[in-house]
Amino acid sequence: MIEEIENYAKEHNIPIMLPDGIEYLCNYIKEHNIKSILEIGSAIGYSAIKMASVSDDIEITTIEKDTDRYNIAVDNIRKFNLLDRILIINDDALNVPVSGSYDLIFIDASKSANIKFFNKFKNNLNPNGVIITDNLSFHGLVEDETLIKTKNQRGIVRHIKEYIEFLNNNKEFITTYIPLGDTISISKRKDNKLVVCPTNDNLEEVLKTNIDGIIVGIKNLSVFPSLQVDINKLKKIIKSTDKEIIVSVNKMIHNKDIPYLEEVLMELNKLNISKILFYNVGVINIAKRLGITKDLVIMQEHLNTSIYSNNFYYNSGVKGSFFSFYITKEELLDIKNNTNMEIMFMGYGYLPIFYSRRYLLTNYFNYINKNKEDNLYYMKHNDEEYPVLESNNGSIIYTSKPVNLINKIDELRSIDYIVIDSFNIDNSEFMNVLNSFINKTKSNKEEYIGFFNTKTIYKVKNNE
Ligand code: SAH
Ligand code: MG
Repeated sequence: MIEEIENYAKEHNIPIMLPDGIEYLCNYIKEHNIKSILEIGSAIGYSAIKMASVSDDIEITTIEKDTDRYNIAVDNIRKFNLLDRILIINDDALNVPVSGSYDLIFIDASKSANIKFFNKFKNNLNPNGVIITDNLSFHGLVEDETLIKTKNQRGIVRHIKEYIEFLNNNKEFITTYIPLGDTISISKRKDNKLVVCPTNDNLEEVLKTNIDGIIVGIKNLSVFPSLQVDINKLKKIIKSTDKEIIVSVNKMIHNKDIPYLEEVLMELNKLNISKILFYNVGVINIAKRLGITKDLVIMQEHLNTSIYSNNFYYNSGVKGSFFSFYITKEELLDIKNNTNMEIMFMGYGYLPIFYSRRYLLTNYFNYINKNKEDNLYYMKHNDEEYPVLESNNGSIIYTSKPVNLINKIDELRSIDYIVIDSFNIDNSEFMNVLNSFINKTKSNKEEYIGFFNTKTIYKVKNNE
């Protein structure tokens, strides 16, 4: 019966999907348990009938603007007894309002309108849904333009190329291309990678969870309060996991640190790590001089808050930016949309308010003539307690509470890396938080969100 439709299409030059392409699409629907589909361009109902036949609980809405084809499609769908599961609409897809939400949006209509279809219907996509588009090759003409014979074909090829460029530069979606049939593209909403700053105590447990990577500091070169290791220990960690490993050398570098820094950078270059986090811009030149090929990520807690600074560093060879904690969501997304930098942002953890090279705790205890018994103390101010941490590298004062953006995470999908820091958090509490980020389960408490919704405005009082 389906062959009749295929033969009809052949006889009347109706561009239904090619066998390989439709087979791939149907398998994809089956494997990904897709239940609701919106199709743009039904023609005579062939692909809709094939997709509906994958499983009895699939429902399809399909739109066709050509009335003759629409009528034939309705007949065909009736013949397959699928009128109750395939809703076909006779209208121009760009004009018809669509309110449902779908697991799959299949675009297979006028090639010149692909970008418009994509931008209109992405709003009808379920959070984990995909947009699949047919005919990215246009019978090979896109790859080999010498095959183009008519002006009409040239126009279509140009539109398809524009669409491919649109997909490749899309900040919201990530697209893969399947060279089957007439080549189809699969676009999924981007999602952040989750990386954790572990401690020595929770490292093993953290590596067992479904996160994407960890941040590890190098001893005497990192001011991350969490895990700090030497190169040997780093090698052991790399061996023990296939997760992404980001290494931090983010302290203020002084001349006397340079030989050690160079030695470490040369070692890191040979290891299976992905990125190097740094604070001091001197690292850019040192890395260049040493021929370091790992991605550099700049991390200057409070600086780097504009499109200009990020693009300046990007043009200097820096691939990523760990953003200031003190910018709002609007500022964050605005920069993300205007830079090619990979962006990292703190999703959970205590934020450093202040960093000094001085040994503030030691000095304080000397001053009051008492013994310092720990490297972590709390400073009380207006009923809030602020952690103060001293290490070889100096002292850091943190926010009184950890920031927690779990309830905002949907708004941050375009941010490449969300960082979850376990410093100073009780382990079972931390594992709960981590799981909420992994499973995207919202918190029912009101969480501290730092400056996410609030602009930092400095006001000088009249008498100052
Ligand atoms: N998906 C079908 C083939 C579709 S062919 C299959 O594989 O079986 C493309 C169809 O899109 C044509 O029938 C054309 O009339 C329709 N079309 C083009 N632009 C459209 C638009 N803006 N709205 C609705 N249908 C459109
Ligand atoms: Mg097609």
